[in-house]
Amino acid sequence: MAHCMTLTTHAVVGAAVASFFPEQPYLAFAAGFMSHLAIDALPHYDYGEFLHSFEKDPHHRLQTDMRFGKHFLHDLRLIGADALLGFLLAFVVARILGISYEYALIGAGAGVYPDLIQFVYYKLRKTWLEVGLAPLQRFHVWIQDGVERPEWGWRKGFGLQALLAVGILIAVLLVR
Ligand SMILES: [Zn+2]
Repeated sequence: MAHCMTLTTHAVVGAAVASFFPEQPYLAFAAGFMSHLAIDALPHYDYGEFLHSFEKDPHHRLQTDMRFGKHFLHDLRLIGADALLGFLLAFVVARILGISYEYALIGAGAGVYPDLIQFVYYKLRKTWLEVGLAPLQRFHVWIQDGVERPEWGWRKGFGLQALLAVGILIAVLLVR
């Protein structure tokens, strides 16, 4: 979300890696979830310039927040459209890899899940739930340290993400 790759990339990659566990929904979910953190660790452009409700503090990255207000709906629509595209492409991934739609959706859901947890963290960190959510959020933020490339701009940024998603899809197709 704030510093991550697009949800489309995460959903496609999540669906692709879930295909390794066609009969094991929990492992399929775990594979999708871990794929999120793994590709976040690659240099990437985050779509920050398109989002306006984020408040980032470069020195206190656990303090990043997504403010409710006039920009929030705009951002929610964009992120929602991004997720929707990802889930639609999960059906295409299912066809290419010959897995059920169900498993592709489990993988795609797991692939975007860390960002959902991140949002929950933003909103609930001031409650007792922080104790449970903080370790994952800390890890999620840490894994992206130094790999953000805002200077790439969206053309190169999204182009490379599309290449990554297609590359992983092809790799999964070849090794399975
Ligand atoms: Zn992420």
